[in-house]
Amino acid sequence: MKYAKRMNHIKASEIREILKITENPEVISFAGGLPAPELFPIEEIKRINEIVLEEDGQKALQYTTTEGYQPLRAWIANRMKKRLQTSFDADKILITHGSQQALDLSGKVFLDEGDYVVCESPTYLAAISAFKMYGAKFIEIDCDDTGMDMDALEEQLKQNQKIKYIYVIPDFQNPTGRTWSLEKRKRIAQLSNMYDVPIIEDNPYGELRFEGEYLPSIASFDKKGTCIVTGTFSKTYCPGYRIGWVAANSDLIKQYVLVKQGSDLQCNTMSQLAIAKFVELYDLDAHIQTITKVYKRRRDLAVQTMHQAFPKNVHFTEPEGGLFAWVELPEHINARDVLDTCLASNIAFVPGGSFFPNGGHENTFRINFSNMSEDRIVEGLTKLGDILNQFV
Ligand code: PMP
Repeated sequence: MKYAKRMNHIKASEIREILKITENPEVISFAGGLPAPELFPIEEIKRINEIVLEEDGQKALQYTTTEGYQPLRAWIANRMKKRLQTSFDADKILITHGSQQALDLSGKVFLDEGDYVVCESPTYLAAISAFKMYGAKFIEIDCDDTGMDMDALEEQLKQNQKIKYIYVIPDFQNPTGRTWSLEKRKRIAQLSNMYDVPIIEDNPYGELRFEGEYLPSIASFDKKGTCIVTGTFSKTYCPGYRIGWVAANSDLIKQYVLVKQGSDLQCNTMSQLAIAKFVELYDLDAHIQTITKVYKRRRDLAVQTMHQAFPKNVHFTEPEGGLFAWVELPEHINARDVLDTCLASNIAFVPGGSFFPNGGHENTFRINFSNMSEDRIVEGLTKLGDILNQFV
């Protein structure tokens, strides 16, 4: 049997493998990126499903347009205007199967074998996998607590004609938890306009802010329609619905719609109607406030415990929102070795090397703080600190 060449680009995701281990309830897992399931609004969803089926059952169970359910697209457009200061109208929004599908479709729309994607170093693992499927090569740009090194980015944009797009996660990034400064948001939008290279601004975590002010999106500074934004209900509501979106100028959205037709025709109609009904009848902001309160407390405990338990030459981020913190060990320590020892004590995390498409940086790892209870966060990170002390 002969597989397609693209199958050579794929290997099993390390995270998925680690997640299998974490299914054991005894494991204290900082590995996944899972929201806290006890916060899913199950009672409200039961009621919503009933209402949708009673009021609009035939529509909810029928095919709909590829673009998606209009009232939901209109709600998303308004939400983006308010939170991200963008000016996309409903007709510039395509509903996708999670924002992950929007990333996959981006690869389909833009990439030929050997094309380059510019990304943050490190970046989101499943975006790397999605883009690799289309034969992408990666140019990683160094980042600090204010975002990408803009001079290094401009240098690459000047030199390399095969760059198809820039992929960034400017709010509470996965995996580092970092958030870009306002200045860098403006500057990257200018560079994208100037060099006519699109930006894919992936924003699953922006709404999960624990403190400080919401920042306008990169796309809000776009003057020429080169910025594409992806979003999702996965972290503010529930990932199981698999409803996300991509927002872009009309020409681009037409391309995305074409490739989505070939993939799955449309997203689940019932899910779209149910989410639209939820945001109509309930206060999503109040729900997000409930979630962020819990995550903030978990973040506080995680940071506090890491300060107390981790060796002083181990550095970590202290994110203002989102689900993740990023840990850097002294260079001689391989986080995969630390993980092996941790797994023997029923503690899991994801080694950072996987988040660098061109390899290296084995002395890093990612901590997820949203999914474990407060006492397990303290217990797990204290044990992790003891183990790290054996390595430094
Ligand atoms: N982008 C980033 C940066 C993510 O962390 C995730 C989820 N872990 C996604 C996109 C995809 O999320 P979903 O498909 O559930 O919307």
